[in-house]
Parts: sequence; C-alpha cells; structure tokens
Amino acid sequence: MGGCLSLVVAAGRGERFGGQVPKQYRLLAGQPVLRRSLAAFLGHEGVDLVRAVIGADHRKLYDEAAADLPLLEPVVGGATRQESVLLGLESVADAEPDFVLIHDAARPLVDRATITRTLGALQRVPGAVAAVPVSDTLKRAGPEAPGGGTMIAATVLRDGLWRAQTPQGFRFPDILAAHRRFAGADFTDDAAVFERAGFAVALVPGYEENIKVTTEDDLSRAERIIVQGEVRTGFGFDVHRFGAGDRVMLCGVAIPFGRALEGHSDADVGLHALTDALLGAVGAGDIGAHFSPDDPRWRDAPSEMFLREAATRVARAGGTVTNVDLTLICERPRIAEHRDAMVANVARILGIAPDRVSIKGTTTERLGFTGREEGIAAQAVATVRIAV
Ligand code: MG
Repeated sequence: MGGCLSLVVAAGRGERFGGQVPKQYRLLAGQPVLRRSLAAFLGHEGVDLVRAVIGADHRKLYDEAAADLPLLEPVVGGATRQESVLLGLESVADAEPDFVLIHDAARPLVDRATITRTLGALQRVPGAVAAVPVSDTLKRAGPEAPGGGTMIAATVLRDGLWRAQTPQGFRFPDILAAHRRFAGADFTDDAAVFERAGFAVALVPGYEENIKVTTEDDLSRAERIIVQGEVRTGFGFDVHRFGAGDRVMLCGVAIPFGRALEGHSDADVGLHALTDALLGAVGAGDIGAHFSPDDPRWRDAPSEMFLREAATRVARAGGTVTNVDLTLICERPRIAEHRDAMVANVARILGIAPDRVSIKGTTTERLGFTGREEGIAAQAVATVRIAV
C-alpha cells in the first residue's frame, strides 16, 4: 500500500481508573476518548489508514465508540502494550505501509501540528517521537519523612530531559523488525524498542496539552482543555421544492408523503442546511463547492455523505462539534413525530451525543412559498470548538 498507517493502541484495561468502563471508552466532552484519538488521525491528510488495537473483551464498547468512522477492522491486542503493538504491526505487515504512527488511545487531545511534525521528521530519520522538554526541577524520592510524606534523596539534573508522548512515528519495516526482535520484552514505549534495535530516533516538539488520560483528574483536565478552545459558529440555509413522489427525506428519515423534494441528491434539505453550517463554522466553503450539483457522482446520493464530509472538515481544522440546531420550515409533513429518529440519525453521523442535536419544525402561518406548500426550507446553526 505504501503511505502512512496510524495504529491507535487501546488494549489497556485501565485498572488505575477504577470504574467499570475502561478509560479509553469514557466520555470526554460528549465523545468517547478513543473516538477522539481515532478522529485526530482520520482527519489528518498525511494519514491514509487508521486501525485500533483493542482489548479482547472490548469489541462492543469499540463498536459503539467507533461507529461510522472509516477505520480498518480493529485488531485484538495482547497482555502487554508491547505485545499489542506487535500484533497491530503484524496485522498490516503484508500491506507494507511506508510509515506507521503509533498512538496511545489515552491521548485524545493530540493536535494536528504534532502529527504533522512527527510525520515530517520521518522524511529525514527512521523514527520520531513527539515529546516536551522537562521544565520542572526533578527530585528523587528518598526515605519517609518524619510525620508522613517523603524526603528528597537527590535532585536530578533535568538538562536534556524530555517527556515522550505519542504519536511515535517510524519507518514501517524497521519498527516491525525491531518489535519482532524484542518480542516478549517490556519496554514502556515503541521508541525504546526501536532505539534498542539500533535505530536513530528524533525528538520532535509535542504539545504540552497532549496529556495522557490515566486518572479521573486527567479526564477533568482534558475536559477543561477542550472547553477552553475557541468557539466558532456556522450558519446554513437551504430550500428544496416539492415535485412528484411519495416520500420526503428529512435528516435521513424517509417520511411517507404525497410528494417528494426535488434535487440532484436525495434532496434532504435538513442535512444540507446542517452541512453548510458545519462547513461555515470552519470557513470551508459551502456544500456546492464540495459536491457540485453538476457532478454525476452525487445523483440521488444519500445526503448523509455530505454531512459526514463536513464533519471530517471540522476535524481537520482541529474542531469538535459542540452542538447543532436545525429548524425545518414547512406546513407539512409534521416534523414532531419524526424528530427523535432524525436526532438519533444526526447524532450518529456526527458522532456526538443526541442531547447536542436539536431539530424542530415550524410553519410560516401559510405565508410565502413554504406556506403555499411549494417546498421546504431549513435553517441550521452549528457550534464548533477549535483546540487552541
Ligand atoms: Mg440542497
């Protein structure tokens, strides 16, 4: 295949976390931690394929967390992190990617720029690790202190020390060979395996907030970091006229009706307005620019793919959809009885919780083209947070 594969390691049982749900499946500002990690790589143009390595008992959790993301089938990991990575690498050995980026699922805040820098370094060196220089003074803990706590045994020179994060990127054949050679050992990261095999690894500047979510405190901190991002808003508006037919598509729900909406695609006016709102929030143009009505590929296309593409654009801009609000304007059909199904659909496509999706119907009191039942109009607002 060539190109770059991203391996997201999510096989840990997360015992340190306590609770029933392993940390990589916990919700972080409305999305599972793992989903955020996967989306970061799916949204990067330098990454061709993404595969997760998961725990043997986690398939159901994984299917929910990764629903509708364009991923390779997950691979079941092993007893240790190192074994899990080896199994992940072996799973694509035949495909022979040029590069692999190995990332811990527990680092859901990895930013675009770090991925870009790590990948970029692989053009010059066989391995590259995102890392941040240690700025705190380091102390080695010694004996117990009188009255509790710990005494300092020594102050450790911090000069030249960095904290390794992920992603860690490697030339694929080399990291596969290194992991095969040291299978069964217990290194704490892939760079250590690679170094031990004699390969050179570069440090590339990581990102202080690319934290590893290990404890409940980390989860709260990650949530605060996401919430601190810059807020953007986008607006969408669309109209489709009625023509002959027996159902209308609204937010992916086929509603039996005496007419249909006319359009090049499935004419889902609700999803079109939402698509424009998402694109607008990240300054990515409009639906017509991405899916020309003159392009035969989009004839009768399900509009879900337009919204999905818009969501990818948001992810590529480093954004997370906070909420969307849609108003469908028509005398008929009645929206209320289909609202729950529409909300569920939009939440699924965007990968956000249903309580972040609002859909409502209104009439124009029989005034104007919607009042004369010549068509349906839709207005949408999307709010997106961009990590800063
Ligand atoms: Mg349209």
